[in-house]
Amino acid sequence: MTAIQEERTTGDLKALAERAGRELEDASALEILQWAAKTFGDRFCVTSSMEDAVVAHLASRALPGVEVVFLDTGYHFPETIGTRDAVEAVMDVNVITLTPRQTVAEQDAEYGPKLHDRDPDLCCALRKVKPLEEGLKGYLAWATGLRRDESPTRANTPVVGWDEKRQKVKISPIARWSQEDVQTYVTEHGVLTNPLLMDGYASVGCAPCTRRVLEGEDARAGRWAGLSKTECGLHG
Ligand code: SF4
Repeated sequence: MTAIQEERTTGDLKALAERAGRELEDASALEILQWAAKTFGDRFCVTSSMEDAVVAHLASRALPGVEVVFLDTGYHFPETIGTRDAVEAVMDVNVITLTPRQTVAEQDAEYGPKLHDRDPDLCCALRKVKPLEEGLKGYLAWATGLRRDESPTRANTPVVGWDEKRQKVKISPIARWSQEDVQTYVTEHGVLTNPLLMDGYASVGCAPCTRRVLEGEDARAGRWAGLSKTECGLHG
């Protein structure tokens, strides 16, 4: 019986996550993902915004053919879609593209144009949060590329934790990494990155809600700039 079968019979996935978070705090990103692969097998996936393919690359080493979930909001930069296509073409992963229930045109017809300017929380709920909730239903655990140094709201991200909202194990294998660690991994392994990272963007999201960052700003300052909004609701 695998670890996960034992834990599921006790209904204690949450305890498993919290224990793993403590035990794996000092483990390497690859070791964390190897634990996830061994524990959850194909009930584990990676989500990627296609800012870079670092976590997808690490996960493919731990679990070749790993499913990489990408949310196509309909508002991405062409460079982001191109990165998604390149990841699918060259890496040992299976890219799963999730789409919202409505196209942008359908949403505009129902809610009016540029909902992202008037009510970004609702726009994110419709185009990101709901599709991800649906898309993650078949998995027991998901991995993200969250890092503690990205912003104050992410400073306490556990390497393995419990996603209360979705009742799943949430794994952030590079939570302890710095931007320099990411760059080193990209260089050493020739990992694909979004070309916008070379063009002044430090964090890449939907085009209407992303701008280049200024010197001294944190990496996510270019997201929903000018608004108090800092997260899209996927990680809240
Ligand atoms: Fe809408 Fe902006 Fe959220 Fe994308 S980031 S879903 S465009 S509000």
